[in-house]
Amino acid sequence: MTKTYKILIDGKWVSSESRETFQSLNPATEKSLGKFQSGNENDVNQAVDAAERAFEEWSSLPAPKRGEILFHAASLLRQNKETLARTVTIEMGKVLPEAKGDVQEAIDIAEYMAGEGRRLFGHTTPSELRDKFCMTVRRPIGVCGLITPWNFPIAIPAWKIMPALICGNPVVFKPASDTPLCAIKFVEILEKAGVPKGVINLVTGSGDQAGIPIVRHKNVRCISFTGSRETGLQIIKDAGIKRVGLELGGKNGIIVLEDADLRLAIDGVIWGGYGTTGQRCTAASRVIVQQSIKEKFERLLSERVSRLRLGSGLDKKTDVGPLINRKALEKTHFYTEIGLKEGAKLLCGGSPLKGKGFFYHPTLFTDATYDMRISQEEIFGPSVCIISVKNLEEAIEVMNSVSYGLSSSIYTSSMRSAFKAIEGIEAGLTYVNSSTIGSEAHLPFGGVKQTGNTREAGIEGINEFSEIKTVYFDYSERLQKAQIDTG
Ligand code: NDP
Repeated sequence: MTKTYKILIDGKWVSSESRETFQSLNPATEKSLGKFQSGNENDVNQAVDAAERAFEEWSSLPAPKRGEILFHAASLLRQNKETLARTVTIEMGKVLPEAKGDVQEAIDIAEYMAGEGRRLFGHTTPSELRDKFCMTVRRPIGVCGLITPWNFPIAIPAWKIMPALICGNPVVFKPASDTPLCAIKFVEILEKAGVPKGVINLVTGSGDQAGIPIVRHKNVRCISFTGSRETGLQIIKDAGIKRVGLELGGKNGIIVLEDADLRLAIDGVIWGGYGTTGQRCTAASRVIVQQSIKEKFERLLSERVSRLRLGSGLDKKTDVGPLINRKALEKTHFYTEIGLKEGAKLLCGGSPLKGKGFFYHPTLFTDATYDMRISQEEIFGPSVCIISVKNLEEAIEVMNSVSYGLSSSIYTSSMRSAFKAIEGIEAGLTYVNSSTIGSEAHLPFGGVKQTGNTREAGIEGINEFSEIKTVYFDYSERLQKAQIDTG
């Protein structure tokens, strides 16, 4: 019998007031993984109320003590890594080693943020006046609404929840409707680790019914969102005066120059383009290759792409798992048709796999131009296009021709070319001789242009979830006036 899961409000697992449920499917088999609550505005209101009630106690707990709870969460995540990773593969589709990586990212950020509990640094700085002390201290923001996508169903929630908690904020978490089971398993671990009731609340449900009420709620002080640009734009309109952090994906490119180690570059394109079935915000969907090596590169790359094995993420032989759902499969195919119509040449793939599951053959286009839709728009599937260029300058121009600016990479043996690329590429991340993916928890992550307005992880994660208070402490025992008593 299909299990029915609940939502977590004020420390209790309850049914939604809507009395309605939805199903989450295994994308490899299309079998249901259970029924989940279709949370609505009433549930959100209760979750926000519970979070507000929990705020004072949680924020006044010394940060190192909050850190102990996060260290415990990291240890429980490590103990449950295998089981959680299998849940990720079954619900989201990525191959098991990548699913373990998803959980590992959560462990890394939990430990990093737990350690921040002993820092949460502010600044001290001299005053322009005598007998006056100046400093900044960090304060929590208040209730944080966290809205996450399905592509990293453990890591992305962890990237938001861990810094929010260490800074002293309670949270209301709405996961993607494609991965509610992962969210529930993750939150169960946080509960076991000792996160108090009301500090973490989980409301599953649709973007419209559960997401919008969180964004619009007047007592939610901060929204952190990862997902599509369209939803990001809607959130900015709905949020009003709140802190809003948006991470909205990319159209990332890899530059391969004629002096590159081609074997290394091809490994990087395979990993960046087809890892996670191309469903990473940092996925490499454009390869910008120097004309002089185009033919050789194309041949070597298409040989590798055509050998990629499509299948269930639980099967050890699988390289590329299914897409998340039928809509994503149709979107990927829609872009294949667009690419063909635009005049790009199909080298590999270009069609769905027949039968159950949302599988799409790894697809490679060549002879794409920088302005084609397949070179400009986020496909979020296993589809890569090759664009050829004369030299580094043109490669950087092509790289920057898209409206996004998240990740980028260059393969070259020239230090000068590498540094020119670092200088010239408009992106939040540039990798040299490595693919576009592979962020580490202690370094900032995020992009420029239409990719978003924030940086997550590392110390930037602390900035995202804390307010800075400036403190002037005057011990002169007389009225001193800044800018006036200076002379
Ligand atoms: P969405 O942006 O629609 O969904 C992301 C999250 O936002 C989900 O939890 C979703 O809920 C929720 N949501 C949707 N609408 C609203 C709203 N109006 N207010 C508040 N929350 C809302 O992305 P999709 O999953 O539909 O994916 C579509 C495309 O987005 C992909 O093809 C890809 O291009 C891009 N994307 C980018 C990601 C990234 O890492 N930057 C991650 C995922 C997608 P629900 O799931 O219930 O709809």
